[in-house]
Amino acid sequence: MGGKGGLEKIACIGIGSNIGDKIGNCKKAIELLGKNTSIAIKKTSSFYETEPVGYKDQDWFVNCAVEIETDLKPLSLLSLCQAIESEMGRTREIKYGPRIIDLDILLYNNDIINDKDLRIPHPEMHKRRFVLQTLSDIAPDTIHPALKITIARLLRDVNNGGAVKKIVSHA
Ligand code: ADP
Ligand code: MG
Repeated sequence: MGGKGGLEKIACIGIGSNIGDKIGNCKKAIELLGKNTSIAIKKTSSFYETEPVGYKDQDWFVNCAVEIETDLKPLSLLSLCQAIESEMGRTREIKYGPRIIDLDILLYNNDIINDKDLRIPHPEMHKRRFVLQTLSDIAPDTIHPALKITIARLLRDVNNGGAVKKIVSHA
């Protein structure tokens, strides 16, 4: 075995960037998550170029998602995500506007959380193609805990939800 034992919860985190080296920023965020002793990265989605949703007057994003195992409770995981955002230089900005890095907790086990600072499943996820596409790469058969529908099905049925284009890696 070895590695990080006893990380019993499974969570999915959506990662996005639309400033600077967008792919590099997403990779850096995954690296920083994986460095934490309370987190093991289990799966990483493909990377996608995605049309901004909401506030349109900004550059396209790069998005991906990871499945992790963790022993952090949801609010601690949120704090860690925000610490990584700060460490990577994210500052206060327009709501839904450009960002170096964004880490959103999409799913945490099968839990439904409606806290002032934390809502899981992420409230907009079922409307956003970039979330459903990245999540579908790593967890297609996972059932959305509130809607009781699989991620793959939500992706198939999403209306519009913004364009997504898979980034073909030549590496
Ligand atoms: P967004 O990701 O919606 O564009 P921000 O990244 O600026 O916006 O986050 C705004 C707030 O969203 C954070 O302060 C955080 O408390 C809250 N939030 C609520 N639910 C979640 C979640 N599941 N994952 C991450 N942040 C969340
Ligand atoms: Mg966010």
